[in-house]
Amino acid sequence: MANNDKDPADRQLEDYKKTVQSVGVLRTGNGAPVDDITNTLQAGPGGPLLLQDFTYLDSIAHFDRERIPERVVHAKGGSAQGYFEVTHDISQYCKASVFSSIGKQTSVAVRFSTVGGESGSADTVRDPRGFACKFYTDDGIWDLVGNNTPVFFIRDPVLFPSFIHTQKRNPTTHLKDPNMFWDFLTLRPESMHQVMILFSDRGIPDGYRHMNGYGSHTFKMVNANNTAVYVKFHFKTDQGIKNLDVKVARDLAADDPDYSNRDLYNHIANGDFPSWTLYIQVMTFEQAATCSFNPFDITKVWSHTDYPLIQVGKLVLNRNPTNYFAEVEQIAFSPAHLVPGIEPSPDKLLQGRLFSYSDTHRHRLGANYLQLPINCPYQSKVTNYQRDGPQAFDNQGSAPNYYPNSFSGPEQQPHAYLSPYPVSGDVDKYDLSNDDNYSQAGQLYRKVMSKAEQKRLAENLADNVKNAADFIQEKAVFHFTQIDQELGDNVKDLLKRAKYIKANL
Ligand code: NDP
Repeated sequence: MANNDKDPADRQLEDYKKTVQSVGVLRTGNGAPVDDITNTLQAGPGGPLLLQDFTYLDSIAHFDRERIPERVVHAKGGSAQGYFEVTHDISQYCKASVFSSIGKQTSVAVRFSTVGGESGSADTVRDPRGFACKFYTDDGIWDLVGNNTPVFFIRDPVLFPSFIHTQKRNPTTHLKDPNMFWDFLTLRPESMHQVMILFSDRGIPDGYRHMNGYGSHTFKMVNANNTAVYVKFHFKTDQGIKNLDVKVARDLAADDPDYSNRDLYNHIANGDFPSWTLYIQVMTFEQAATCSFNPFDITKVWSHTDYPLIQVGKLVLNRNPTNYFAEVEQIAFSPAHLVPGIEPSPDKLLQGRLFSYSDTHRHRLGANYLQLPINCPYQSKVTNYQRDGPQAFDNQGSAPNYYPNSFSGPEQQPHAYLSPYPVSGDVDKYDLSNDDNYSQAGQLYRKVMSKAEQKRLAENLADNVKNAADFIQEKAVFHFTQIDQELGDNVKDLLKRAKYIKANL
């Protein structure tokens, strides 16, 4: 059901017809004209079909292959395109061409998403939201692949497959399983900071326009003198933070499961373009060496007071995709898509993601996924020594396919040099699971949340944890108490009450 009968999403086909009278002749995939696509070729009116009916075979064989694998995470999403404009000079920190001068604009595509649900799932569920931005810079694609939360549930990527399994479906029942969900979270208390944000009001944002985006990881920025600093990225919504009431969200999940996509599409179609202001936080190598916490731990934020936000520019989304499959289903973000001036830090989760995102795109879209129009770095033509593979569209013509060569092949670029940093220590597996899992979650509760927010947090937590087994509920209460005694007590009381009500139903 739509917001009203006449919104741009509803009228899309009528609007198309107004602008395009005819696209011409109906043709097969090989470009031959077709006389009839409503009747198959038969041996007599009651007879069998003929293998020579290429029109039918061309159509049905293509249809059989229409779906590509669904994203394992972030399957449901919406996207828009626009530009990023530099408003403040950060060249003292970063030589990336995207930030080279005030006023410079770079084209972008942003994909928003939920995380755990399938591609047809409801938009208004309690779940982190993906916030991935592709910058088509003149020095290559830079993808900032973040979420609407500044932290994450785990700090070691080796846990990622298990963590995601617990947010998906039980392999036997094919149902979401509160025991799986809370068992994992309570066995890995580094998740508690993110759990607090997820069960706060921000856990159900009102569409995609009213939420912040965070790069979440720590990255490295390098300036023209090859001096490096560590940074975090923050996109703050210019529309203001707005969240959905739990009951409203539940109703919307039934009445308008595509609420967030519809909201984004219609606002852009109506010329009301959403925007975000980009900030960075900067930490020097010296500060990182003496920091009281691990600045590369994605379960932690950097305090705004100690590392103030530095304004960089504006992100504006002013264009809806014209084809969902080509521009949204096939868009492929990777934290490994970096450009000179922006580099990875030793953040363990980031290091794991550097591999897995490009890997999944090679699986979903093929080895040449970066040649698809939505993914290709069209502002900086690709010239290299890669060739062939499925759907090699731009196979680089007659240029030599080996290096070194004496025949005008592309040359190495010194400005792309990665800044060095020292590492030491034994190669080993290091257990960081108990690295201060509660302090920042406690600060969020005590310093940031109002009394009303604290109350709703406890209610949201209890309302969800109550579905897990008793021993898991007890463990959850233990962790909430470590975060804050009052929070633990309140959730415990609410769980007791829920049990009493259930027993007396
Ligand atoms: P500040 O008071 O400077 O920052 C608190 C920030 O919390 C706000 O600026 C806002 O971030 C964010 N916030 C407000 N309400 C909520 C909510 N319901 N759920 C999640 N975040 C919310 O303090 P600190 O920098 O010292 O951080 C204190 C705590 O705030 C942290 O432990 C962390 O849990 C949380 N926080 C901190 C962020 C940071 O980068 N320092 C970012 C987000 C949360 P924003 O301005 O980004 O909207």
